[in-house]
Amino acid sequence: MRFGIDLGGTKTEIVALGADGGIALRRRVATPRDYDSLIRGVAELVSSVEAELGTRGKVGMAIPGSESFGSHLIKNANTVYLNGKPLRLDLETALARTVRLANDANCFALSEASDGAAAGAATVFGVIAGTGVGGGVVIDGKVLGGAHGIGGEWGHIPLPAPSIEEIQTAPPCYCGKLGCLEVWCSGPGLAAEFKRVTGREATAEQIAASDGAEEVAAMGRLIDRFARAMATLVNILDPDVIVMGGGLSNAERLYRDLPPLVEKYGFNLGGPPRIVKNLHGDSSGVRGAAWLWPEADV
Ligand SMILES: [Zn+2]
Repeated sequence: MRFGIDLGGTKTEIVALGADGGIALRRRVATPRDYDSLIRGVAELVSSVEAELGTRGKVGMAIPGSESFGSHLIKNANTVYLNGKPLRLDLETALARTVRLANDANCFALSEASDGAAAGAATVFGVIAGTGVGGGVVIDGKVLGGAHGIGGEWGHIPLPAPSIEEIQTAPPCYCGKLGCLEVWCSGPGLAAEFKRVTGREATAEQIAASDGAEEVAAMGRLIDRFARAMATLVNILDPDVIVMGGGLSNAERLYRDLPPLVEKYGFNLGGPPRIVKNLHGDSSGVRGAAWLWPEADV
Protein backbone atom coordinates (compact mmCIF):
# COMPACT_ATOMS: atom_id res chain seq x y z
CA MET A 1 0.00 0.00 0.00
CA ARG A 2 1.15 3.54 -0.70
CA PHE A 3 -0.19 6.58 1.16
CA GLY A 4 -0.37 10.04 -0.33
CA ILE A 5 -0.82 13.09 1.88
CA ASP A 6 -1.69 16.50 0.48
CA LEU A 7 -0.86 19.28 2.90
CA GLY A 8 -3.17 22.15 1.98
CA GLY A 9 -3.55 25.56 3.58
CA THR A 10 -6.80 24.60 5.34
CA LYS A 11 -7.29 20.86 4.73
CA THR A 12 -4.92 17.93 4.84
CA GLU A 13 -5.98 14.86 2.92
CA ILE A 14 -4.66 11.29 2.95
CA VAL A 15 -5.41 8.53 0.46
CA ALA A 16 -4.31 4.92 0.42
CA LEU A 17 -3.67 3.75 -3.14
CA GLY A 18 -3.55 0.13 -4.12
CA ALA A 19 -1.18 -1.26 -6.76
CA ASP A 20 -3.77 -0.56 -9.48
CA GLY A 21 -4.19 3.09 -8.46
CA GLY A 22 -7.57 2.43 -6.88
CA ILE A 23 -8.33 4.39 -3.70
CA ALA A 24 -8.69 2.05 -0.71
CA LEU A 25 -9.32 4.86 1.77
CA ARG A 26 -9.57 8.62 1.81
CA ARG A 27 -9.68 10.94 4.82
CA ARG A 28 -9.61 14.69 5.22
CA VAL A 29 -8.77 16.68 8.36
CA ALA A 30 -8.17 20.34 9.17
CA THR A 31 -4.51 21.32 8.69
CA PRO A 32 -2.96 21.91 12.14
CA ARG A 33 -2.16 25.52 13.02
CA ASP A 34 1.46 25.03 14.03
CA TYR A 35 4.43 22.90 13.11
CA ASP A 36 4.60 20.59 16.14
CA SER A 37 0.87 19.85 15.90
CA LEU A 38 1.33 19.09 12.21
CA ILE A 39 4.04 16.48 12.81
CA ARG A 40 1.94 14.91 15.59
CA GLY A 41 -1.26 15.11 13.51
CA VAL A 42 0.29 13.43 10.45
CA ALA A 43 1.70 10.62 12.60
CA GLU A 44 -1.74 10.08 14.16
CA LEU A 45 -3.43 10.18 10.77
CA VAL A 46 -1.09 7.58 9.28
CA SER A 47 -1.34 5.25 12.27
CA SER A 48 -5.15 5.45 12.34
CA VAL A 49 -5.33 4.67 8.60
CA GLU A 50 -2.91 1.78 9.01
CA ALA A 51 -4.93 0.40 11.92
CA GLU A 52 -8.11 0.61 9.84
CA LEU A 53 -6.58 -1.06 6.78
CA GLY A 54 -4.52 -3.53 8.78
CA THR A 55 -1.41 -2.82 6.75
CA ARG A 56 1.68 -0.61 6.75
CA GLY A 57 2.42 1.69 3.83
CA LYS A 58 4.95 3.94 2.12
CA VAL A 59 4.30 7.65 2.70
CA GLY A 60 4.57 10.46 0.16
CA MET A 61 3.55 14.06 0.81
CA ALA A 62 2.62 16.99 -1.43
CA ILE A 63 3.63 20.31 0.09
CA PRO A 64 3.03 23.94 -0.92
CA GLY A 65 6.76 24.64 -1.20
CA SER A 66 9.95 22.69 -1.71
CA GLU A 67 12.81 21.14 0.25
CA SER A 68 16.18 22.85 -0.05
CA PHE A 69 18.87 20.48 -1.18
CA GLY A 70 21.66 20.12 1.36
CA SER A 71 19.96 21.76 4.33
CA HIS A 72 16.66 19.85 3.87
CA LEU A 73 14.81 22.93 5.10
CA ILE A 74 11.48 23.86 3.50
CA LYS A 75 11.30 27.05 1.45
CA ASN A 76 8.71 28.92 -0.62
CA ALA A 77 5.77 27.47 1.34
CA ASN A 78 2.65 29.58 1.68
CA THR A 79 1.81 27.57 4.80
CA VAL A 80 4.47 29.75 6.33
CA TYR A 81 5.23 27.79 9.50
CA LEU A 82 6.81 25.12 7.27
CA ASN A 83 9.51 27.49 6.03
CA GLY A 84 12.92 26.84 7.56
CA LYS A 85 11.81 23.50 9.06
CA PRO A 86 13.31 20.06 8.25
CA LEU A 87 9.83 18.66 7.56
CA ARG A 88 10.82 15.42 5.87
CA LEU A 89 13.37 14.51 8.54
CA ASP A 90 10.90 15.25 11.35
CA LEU A 91 8.20 13.18 9.65
CA GLU A 92 10.62 10.31 9.17
CA THR A 93 11.37 10.33 12.90
CA ALA A 94 7.68 10.55 13.83
CA LEU A 95 6.62 7.83 11.37
CA ALA A 96 9.74 5.63 11.75
CA ARG A 97 10.18 5.22 7.99
CA THR A 98 11.50 6.95 4.89
CA VAL A 99 9.18 9.70 3.61
CA ARG A 100 9.20 11.33 0.18
CA LEU A 101 8.16 14.96 -0.27
CA ALA A 102 7.43 16.94 -3.40
CA ASN A 103 5.96 20.27 -4.35
CA ASP A 104 2.19 20.07 -4.92
CA ALA A 105 2.48 21.09 -8.59
CA ASN A 106 5.05 18.32 -9.09
CA CYS A 107 2.63 15.87 -7.46
CA PHE A 108 -0.11 17.06 -9.80
CA ALA A 109 2.14 16.38 -12.82
CA LEU A 110 3.18 13.00 -11.42
CA SER A 111 -0.41 11.94 -10.81
CA GLU A 112 -1.49 12.83 -14.32
CA ALA A 113 1.64 11.19 -15.80
CA SER A 114 1.13 8.01 -13.74
CA ASP A 115 -2.50 7.19 -14.42
CA GLY A 116 -4.17 10.41 -15.51
CA ALA A 117 -4.59 12.44 -18.68
CA ALA A 118 -0.91 11.98 -19.64
CA ALA A 119 -0.57 8.30 -18.70
CA GLY A 120 2.13 6.58 -20.72
CA ALA A 121 3.76 9.83 -21.94
CA ALA A 122 7.55 10.01 -21.47
CA THR A 123 7.83 13.75 -20.79
CA VAL A 124 4.97 15.59 -19.10
CA PHE A 125 4.65 19.20 -18.03
CA GLY A 126 1.87 19.81 -15.53
CA VAL A 127 0.53 23.35 -15.32
CA ILE A 128 -1.45 24.64 -12.35
CA ALA A 129 -3.46 27.71 -13.25
CA GLY A 130 -5.63 28.73 -10.33
CA THR A 131 -4.99 30.98 -7.36
CA GLY A 132 -1.37 30.90 -8.54
CA VAL A 133 0.56 29.55 -11.50
CA GLY A 134 2.77 26.55 -10.88
CA GLY A 135 4.26 23.72 -12.84
CA GLY A 136 5.96 20.38 -12.58
CA VAL A 137 8.07 18.23 -14.87
CA VAL A 138 7.84 14.44 -14.95
CA ILE A 139 10.25 12.43 -17.10
CA ASP A 140 9.84 8.66 -17.42
CA GLY A 141 7.59 8.57 -14.36
CA LYS A 142 9.93 10.60 -12.12
CA VAL A 143 9.60 14.17 -10.89
CA LEU A 144 12.41 16.45 -12.04
CA GLY A 145 13.15 18.30 -8.79
CA GLY A 146 16.25 20.06 -10.08
CA ALA A 147 19.48 21.22 -8.47
CA HIS A 148 17.71 23.81 -6.27
CA GLY A 149 14.36 22.05 -5.84
CA ILE A 150 12.56 24.52 -8.08
CA GLY A 151 12.29 22.43 -11.27
CA GLY A 152 9.08 23.34 -13.12
CA GLU A 153 8.46 26.57 -11.14
CA TRP A 154 7.57 28.57 -14.20
CA GLY A 155 5.06 30.82 -12.40
CA HIS A 156 7.86 33.21 -11.47
CA ILE A 157 9.52 33.70 -14.83
CA PRO A 158 8.98 37.10 -16.46
CA LEU A 159 6.21 37.12 -19.07
CA PRO A 160 8.00 36.41 -22.40
CA ALA A 161 7.89 38.90 -25.29
CA PRO A 162 5.90 41.56 -23.43
CA SER A 163 4.23 44.35 -25.37
CA ILE A 164 5.04 47.97 -24.50
CA GLU A 165 1.72 48.11 -22.67
CA GLU A 166 2.49 44.93 -20.72
CA ILE A 167 5.86 46.36 -19.70
CA GLN A 168 4.22 49.60 -18.55
CA THR A 169 1.43 47.88 -16.61
CA ALA A 170 3.30 44.84 -15.24
CA PRO A 171 1.93 44.20 -11.74
CA PRO A 172 4.28 43.47 -8.82
CA CYS A 173 4.49 39.87 -7.60
CA TYR A 174 4.69 38.77 -3.96
CA CYS A 175 8.06 37.14 -4.79
CA GLY A 176 9.58 40.61 -5.16
CA LYS A 177 9.78 40.72 -8.95
CA LEU A 178 7.63 42.55 -11.45
CA GLY A 179 5.33 41.03 -14.06
CA CYS A 180 5.82 37.33 -13.27
CA LEU A 181 3.75 34.88 -15.32
CA GLU A 182 1.72 34.25 -12.15
CA VAL A 183 0.51 37.83 -11.79
CA TRP A 184 -0.69 37.79 -15.40
CA CYS A 185 -2.06 34.27 -15.75
CA SER A 186 -3.44 33.19 -12.35
CA GLY A 187 -7.16 33.52 -11.59
CA PRO A 188 -6.63 36.62 -9.40
CA GLY A 189 -4.27 38.00 -12.08
CA LEU A 190 -6.94 37.59 -14.75
CA ALA A 191 -9.55 39.29 -12.55
CA ALA A 192 -7.18 42.18 -11.69
CA GLU A 193 -6.27 42.80 -15.33
CA PHE A 194 -9.94 42.65 -16.32
CA LYS A 195 -10.72 45.34 -13.76
CA ARG A 196 -7.80 47.48 -14.89
CA VAL A 197 -8.92 47.31 -18.53
CA THR A 198 -12.71 47.44 -18.17
CA GLY A 199 -13.27 49.05 -14.77
CA ARG A 200 -15.57 46.12 -13.89
CA GLU A 201 -15.33 43.57 -11.09
CA ALA A 202 -15.60 39.89 -12.01
CA THR A 203 -14.06 36.67 -10.75
CA ALA A 204 -11.85 34.56 -12.99
CA GLU A 205 -14.61 31.92 -13.13
CA GLN A 206 -17.15 34.52 -14.27
CA ILE A 207 -14.78 35.87 -16.92
CA ALA A 208 -13.95 32.39 -18.21
CA ALA A 209 -17.62 31.39 -18.44
CA SER A 210 -18.96 34.58 -20.06
CA ASP A 211 -19.72 35.24 -23.74
CA GLY A 212 -19.44 39.01 -23.21
CA ALA A 213 -17.07 40.79 -25.60
CA GLU A 214 -14.82 42.19 -22.85
CA GLU A 215 -14.64 38.83 -21.08
CA VAL A 216 -13.82 36.98 -24.31
CA ALA A 217 -11.10 39.55 -25.06
CA ALA A 218 -9.64 39.14 -21.54
CA MET A 219 -9.52 35.36 -22.00
CA GLY A 220 -7.84 35.92 -25.37
CA ARG A 221 -5.11 38.00 -23.71
CA LEU A 222 -4.68 35.36 -20.99
CA ILE A 223 -4.35 32.57 -23.56
CA ASP A 224 -1.86 34.57 -25.63
CA ARG A 225 0.29 35.12 -22.52
CA PHE A 226 0.13 31.47 -21.59
CA ALA A 227 1.05 30.54 -25.17
CA ARG A 228 4.17 32.73 -25.12
CA ALA A 229 5.32 31.11 -21.86
CA MET A 230 4.47 27.61 -23.09
CA ALA A 231 6.39 28.14 -26.34
CA THR A 232 9.51 28.88 -24.30
CA LEU A 233 8.90 25.73 -22.33
CA VAL A 234 8.27 23.62 -25.42
CA ASN A 235 11.48 24.83 -27.04
CA ILE A 236 13.48 23.67 -24.00
CA LEU A 237 11.65 20.56 -22.84
CA ASP A 238 9.44 19.58 -25.78
CA PRO A 239 7.01 17.62 -23.57
CA ASP A 240 4.85 14.89 -25.08
CA VAL A 241 1.89 16.23 -23.14
CA ILE A 242 1.09 19.45 -21.28
CA VAL A 243 -1.62 18.81 -18.67
CA MET A 244 -3.59 21.70 -17.24
CA GLY A 245 -4.93 21.82 -13.67
CA GLY A 246 -6.34 24.40 -11.26
CA GLY A 247 -9.55 26.42 -11.56
CA LEU A 248 -8.77 27.96 -14.95
CA SER A 249 -8.21 24.52 -16.49
CA ASN A 250 -12.00 24.16 -16.70
CA ALA A 251 -12.12 26.77 -19.50
CA GLU A 252 -12.55 24.56 -22.56
CA ARG A 253 -11.32 27.38 -24.79
CA LEU A 254 -7.78 26.71 -23.60
CA TYR A 255 -7.63 23.36 -25.37
CA ARG A 256 -8.87 24.81 -28.65
CA ASP A 257 -6.91 28.07 -28.72
CA LEU A 258 -3.64 27.32 -26.93
CA PRO A 259 -2.09 24.61 -29.17
CA PRO A 260 -2.04 26.61 -32.44
CA LEU A 261 -0.74 29.70 -30.62
CA VAL A 262 2.04 27.74 -28.91
CA GLU A 263 2.95 26.35 -32.31
CA LYS A 264 3.02 29.88 -33.72
CA TYR A 265 5.32 31.20 -30.97
CA GLY A 266 7.51 28.07 -30.84
CA PHE A 267 10.42 27.21 -33.07
CA ASN A 268 9.14 25.30 -36.09
CA LEU A 269 7.33 22.61 -34.08
CA GLY A 270 5.80 21.03 -37.15
CA GLY A 271 2.43 20.76 -35.44
CA PRO A 272 0.53 21.94 -32.37
CA PRO A 273 1.60 20.49 -29.01
CA ARG A 274 -0.75 18.19 -27.10
CA ILE A 275 -2.39 20.25 -24.33
CA VAL A 276 -5.04 18.45 -22.29
CA LYS A 277 -7.24 18.88 -19.25
CA ASN A 278 -6.41 16.87 -16.13
CA LEU A 279 -8.26 13.65 -15.33
CA HIS A 280 -8.10 13.55 -11.53
CA GLY A 281 -9.05 17.16 -10.72
CA ASP A 282 -8.57 18.15 -7.09
CA SER A 283 -7.37 14.63 -6.24
CA SER A 284 -4.24 14.94 -8.36
CA GLY A 285 -2.07 16.36 -5.57
CA VAL A 286 -2.84 13.63 -3.09
CA ARG A 287 -2.67 10.87 -5.74
CA GLY A 288 0.67 12.19 -7.00
CA ALA A 289 2.03 12.17 -3.43
CA ALA A 290 1.21 8.45 -3.27
CA TRP A 291 2.83 7.92 -6.69
CA LEU A 292 6.10 9.29 -5.27
CA TRP A 293 6.41 5.59 -4.43
CA PRO A 294 6.08 3.96 -7.85
CA GLU A 295 4.74 0.43 -8.08
CA ALA A 296 8.13 -1.28 -8.16
CA ASP A 297 9.01 0.10 -4.72
CA VAL A 298 5.84 -0.94 -2.88
ZN1 LIG B 1 6.85 36.16 -8.87
